[in-house]
Amino acid sequence: MRKPEGFKQTGTDRRSFLKGAALIGAGVAATSVAAACTPDAKTEEPTTGTGGGTGGATAGTKYTTYSNPDEIGTVHETSNEETFDVVVVGTGVTGLSCAMLTAEQAPDAKVLLIDKMGGPGGNTNLAELNGPVPSMTWDEALAAAMERNDDVEMDLTDPFLYAHVLADKGKDLAWFYTERGVELADDLLFYKGHNGTLAVKGLVEQIETDPAYANVDYRLNTQAITLLTSDEHTVTGVQIKNTTSEEYTNVTAKAVMLATGGMGTNLELLSFYTGEDVVEKSVKFGQGQDGDGHLMVEYTAHGHSKSVDPTPMWAVVKDMALESALSCCIAMQKSGLYVNQAGLRFHDESFPKGAYPEVDHSMMQQGRVFSIVGQNMIDQFQTEGSNAPAFYYFQVPTDLSEELAQVDSNPNIYVADTFEDLAEKIGLPVDAFVEQINRYEADAKAGTGDSEFGKDARLTVPLGDPPYYAGEIWSIMMQTNSGIRINTDCQVVDPYYVPIAGLYAGGIAVSGFNTSRYTGGTSQSVGLWSGCKAARVIVENELGGTVADDWYGPKEYDGPYGDFMGMELLKPLPGQE
Ligand SMILES: Cc1cc2nc3c(=O)[nH]c(=O)nc-3n(C[C@H](O)[C@H](O)[C@H](O)COP(=O)(O)OP(=O)(O)OC[C@H]3O[C@@H](n4cnc5c(N)ncnc54)[C@H](O)[C@@H]3O)c2cc1C
Repeated sequence: MRKPEGFKQTGTDRRSFLKGAALIGAGVAATSVAAACTPDAKTEEPTTGTGGGTGGATAGTKYTTYSNPDEIGTVHETSNEETFDVVVVGTGVTGLSCAMLTAEQAPDAKVLLIDKMGGPGGNTNLAELNGPVPSMTWDEALAAAMERNDDVEMDLTDPFLYAHVLADKGKDLAWFYTERGVELADDLLFYKGHNGTLAVKGLVEQIETDPAYANVDYRLNTQAITLLTSDEHTVTGVQIKNTTSEEYTNVTAKAVMLATGGMGTNLELLSFYTGEDVVEKSVKFGQGQDGDGHLMVEYTAHGHSKSVDPTPMWAVVKDMALESALSCCIAMQKSGLYVNQAGLRFHDESFPKGAYPEVDHSMMQQGRVFSIVGQNMIDQFQTEGSNAPAFYYFQVPTDLSEELAQVDSNPNIYVADTFEDLAEKIGLPVDAFVEQINRYEADAKAGTGDSEFGKDARLTVPLGDPPYYAGEIWSIMMQTNSGIRINTDCQVVDPYYVPIAGLYAGGIAVSGFNTSRYTGGTSQSVGLWSGCKAARVIVENELGGTVADDWYGPKEYDGPYGDFMGMELLKPLPGQE
């Protein structure tokens, strides 16, 4: 008997849950496993830094259970019933492409497309498109995926799955740009508007007005709550909730597609899944990323998702707004100086290897991290601006005067005129901290670069004169990657790769692609690939239809060429010059 891992259960078991789920069609209320989950239990875990001393600083809260406030996995009593052929959960790039292509290739099929938010698009609204390239041959695709897999910077988990993305890319992109008319910006690497908002808007407009999508029932404020199953390898539909009226409805369907995104707006669940103390270290970011899809598959033969990867990105000072110039100056600069709770630096703060990650896992693994700046950096920020790559996302001003005038009443910023006082205020071991800062200052003043971790001399800036400021660093949880296991047909599979009939998943909710180190990503193209692939498999395998050979239009996408990571524009792939 399978039980969702880590969920404390009292008085009910998986078998009674399944029995209840199978009876849903008859309007019988099921016994709920999820309802038996205990409330959050926090475990305080003091963590020491590399030097062993903890000073006054403490760290680490790990969530060992999850309260499940939305009752995902709970079957609610209802007599409302609807029938569709396909239910697509989520309206990001994955869900939109799946619903639209299904409707195009199976015009008679009734498709329900839902999103729990009041607007469509999820994190796709925030994402840039990247890497518009033609398809590769299978051999090229496999070789490129293996190369990416070998590159520690890229952190890919399943090269075989990713090879399918590369091999299908020209077709997926032809459907997306040419057939659906999604527009690129003038630089040809990004969405028009420099994020996915216009793309989402355009696709939703087509669903609402184009007769080709007349059979797509598009509903916002509608949350998928639990999968309906006849046994743990067979999904027969999904229970949904109208979040405005709070009414539940059981929807019977031949196929359910989970395109529910990540877990970055549900830090408690993320901590529960990963064992990482992200809750008091991270800022929630994005839209609708609560891990609902991950939780729903717990109640099938898929069981627990073993690999959910947090993607901490930009840094902020604890409890300060993303748009705060002072927070940006203290937390986000490549010329910053970070120490852990032992008062010691632990890496090159400019993260020269990554494209973006001001916060990466070396920082997340520390107990607590503090950024220290002196008057010199304050002046440099105000005169030269930020050297943080994320700066433009948040439109941060460079004038610090207003925030500095109120800094004494800011509980999140420590200010002192000496390094000793600063260490004491923060609660760091004074001697270790002062010694560390003096080493750094000597390097910075010599102008030869950082002798401890090799930071570039231009970014090794002396703290200079007092006052000195410090803030505890939190990360912005930009998104998560991975989770639900799928096969190359986007079917959700059990741990032995046996497919769960009627259940599909895609986008950043699934495993196989990016992991914790998000380096400018493949997420949009993975979402597009999995949406299109699931649609094609659903049409043929679940609806008994046939997908047209030219489902993507008359011609594969064959340009422009680009490499987002290397920023090498208009460079053809080998063999395609
Ligand atoms: C600032 C930022 C920049 C980014 N830049 C890039 C980039 O340049 N390139 C790139 O490839 N990726 C980028 N990303 C990653 C981006 O998240 C993904 O590319 C993409 O959005 C994933 O698509 P998706 O369809 O899987 O999920 P999403 O687009 O997040 O869509 C998931 C949807 O599911 C809905 N949902 C969740 N649970 C339920 C439920 N129970 N019932 C109903 N609806 C539900 C959510 O509300 C959401 O609308 C960026 C992300 C952020 C935050």
